Amino acid sequence: MASTTPPSRPAARPDDAPPAVLAAPAPGVLTFTAPRRAKPPRHLADLDAAARAEAVTELGEKPFRARQLSVHYFDRLVDDPAHMTDLPAASRERLTAALLPPLLSAVRRQECDRGTTVKTLWRLFDGALVESVLMRYPDRVTVCVSSQAGCGMNCPFCATGQAGLTRNMSTAEIVEQVVAAARAVARGEVPGGRPGAADRVGNVVFMGMGEPLANYSAVLGAVRRLTDPAPDGLGISARGVTVSTVGLVPAIDRLAGEGLPVTLALSLHAPDDELRDELVPINTRWRVAEALDAARRYVEVSGRRVSIEYALIRDVNDQAWRGDRLGRLLAARGRGWVHVNPIPLNPTPGSKWTASDPHVMDRFVEAIRAHGVPVTIRDTRGKEIDGACGQLAAAP
Ligand code: SAH
Repeated sequence: MASTTPPSRPAARPDDAPPAVLAAPAPGVLTFTAPRRAKPPRHLADLDAAARAEAVTELGEKPFRARQLSVHYFDRLVDDPAHMTDLPAASRERLTAALLPPLLSAVRRQECDRGTTVKTLWRLFDGALVESVLMRYPDRVTVCVSSQAGCGMNCPFCATGQAGLTRNMSTAEIVEQVVAAARAVARGEVPGGRPGAADRVGNVVFMGMGEPLANYSAVLGAVRRLTDPAPDGLGISARGVTVSTVGLVPAIDRLAGEGLPVTLALSLHAPDDELRDELVPINTRWRVAEALDAARRYVEVSGRRVSIEYALIRDVNDQAWRGDRLGRLLAARGRGWVHVNPIPLNPTPGSKWTASDPHVMDRFVEAIRAHGVPVTIRDTRGKEIDGACGQLAAAP
């Protein structure tokens, strides 16, 4: 764990800034505990409704101001305090200074797909860098968010994993990525919606940087803020929220117990322990069978179908026999509980691996389907701007 700042860091960062990119972790090494760093400032989005009323009272304001502030932030997506005209000037200043500190500053914005895919690189209060990706489709808007700066899970085919873990993000830092995207869409800055289609963010996927279940409480807080009805939260349906994990089994069970019907995605990438030990090093802790059993239990409790993510890597994990084995493992655990979402590997810098050939993918998919398990090849966006799955590395 690198918790000291190397002497070579650029002078532009504040003194307590973590290095933007840590030394690459040795193969297979897992990092569960984020290095201790200064906490991001407290923000309205970190707090539930009761805690907001309390915070507002502590500032010497009437508790109902908490609701007014929440309406501005979550419902109207206001970011300029001057527009909060129902708050007297002095209160407005006090409340926004204490509860709406700026947490993300945009360093770079890149777009592709005619402007309907937008990747933003954000600088956090301490100089740490994260990325989020906004994808507008004719009928929906999806935001892919980061939950950690970097990642400790060290999957060798993922650019984020190669950079190591800088730190956990706070609940508000996660929520702010969605609010920023929601504002951009609401202000007409993102083309692509069908006329008359919703211009609200309806889907949030925890598939940006980081392992969400390794930053459990901040992520759960963010899910609550995203799904709480306005003005307590953004009012996004829990069904529209997907938490993607390498398979931290105890955390999957804990999530199942929260009573939030979010969609779980399990990054499997191999049906056999031997290969998965290499591709997803957490497999040395929780084996394929244990991860699948946990996913199955999640369905039992939540009623939500799980998706299995599988990046198809040429000549590594794309053999038809592996498709067959995967189909068998899934079918053995019941019908209708799961679907498989293969995705051709997105290239990452320095990796020797590439995507499978289309006909090889087809044979892999057929081998799974033969067991009655539904499969859809994942649509991938943002490759041209290194914004696709596994390409987020947050280099400035
Ligand atoms: N840590 C979480 C979420 C982040 S990654 C997880 O691993 O599930 C989101 C998805 O992108 C995961 O399934 C991940 O395995 C996949 N991914 C990573 N690198 C990729 C790459 N180079 N090409 C395609 N998918 C990739």
